[in-house]
Amino acid sequence: MLFPLRKRLEPYPVSQYDSPHGHEVFITLRTLPCAHARCKFCGLKSLDREWKGAGPLSEEELFSQLRHSISALSESERRATEKVSLIGMAHSVITPDVVSTEALDKGISFLVESFPNLKHLSVETRADMLPRSVVERISANAAVRKKGISLEAALGVESGVQKVRAALGKGISNKQLMEAAAVLQKAGWGMRAYFIHHLPGRSPRFAAKDLEAGARFMARLKRRFPKLPLTMYVLRGYAPAELRATTFAAYEPASEAQVLNSLAKAARVCGKHGVSLVVDVVGADEAATSAEYLPGQRIQPALIKFNVTQDAAVLRRARKAILREFRTP
Ligand code: SF4
Repeated sequence: MLFPLRKRLEPYPVSQYDSPHGHEVFITLRTLPCAHARCKFCGLKSLDREWKGAGPLSEEELFSQLRHSISALSESERRATEKVSLIGMAHSVITPDVVSTEALDKGISFLVESFPNLKHLSVETRADMLPRSVVERISANAAVRKKGISLEAALGVESGVQKVRAALGKGISNKQLMEAAAVLQKAGWGMRAYFIHHLPGRSPRFAAKDLEAGARFMARLKRRFPKLPLTMYVLRGYAPAELRATTFAAYEPASEAQVLNSLAKAARVCGKHGVSLVVDVVGADEAATSAEYLPGQRIQPALIKFNVTQDAAVLRRARKAILREFRTP
């Protein structure tokens, strides 16, 4: 197929926040529409639809996007960055259909050189799209090895309840997640698992139970793979504009107090089992999908503090303060 001579030279906006592992920058690549695209809740899968058929990112496109993202940061932000996460709107940023392994390898070296204090690098993919050959190639990257950068795969789990995941088309089983964990532990990588606080088709009433089930699943992974660094990364739940009238027609947002309650419960389980818990405070997916139900600004300071301290008491105190406000005449 002949593709127009346009190139994907500009990425999505860069975002950043303070994680438990230092200042983290998300670089969001413009790639291809998702080849999986069966996840009914996902508002990201067609954002790159204009690039259908464009093939994997070329080295020129990848480097142009990386340079753009880096130049959007101030010198002090670049120097403060200890973790970079390479993400995208497709199913993966590491499979050769999205970025050639050759270009990815060079791009990773470039990132390591560009962030003088980099300690961690994360790449996004699906649990069933974790090619061993690519994992080995990234592990063997000379710049990564020289600087002793720790590596991580970021995988969408979405719900700790397998049947909720299946009903929403995610199609990733607990067994596949265990298999991915085995590959990652063997390679000496970590795993960041993305969860959504509550999904369409689930009332916010179930959110605390569902999120706790997610935390317990992460604890199970940790028991089985004790050397695997694990992070549970929670998005608070939103309705992508494109799906508002269909999948999300009956979607109700959780209140801030409900979100804090769920997080505090998940934090207790994660804390007990050596799993980091991070709450999304960036809202990049919400912005990219013109979403409704943007995260409440009132709880943002508590979430920012929790991400760094990992202290569940921060969440409980913030919840109490909100409930007190409701009771005050
Ligand atoms: S969640 Fe991931 S795999 Fe599923 S449709 Fe969205 S981008 Fe594709």
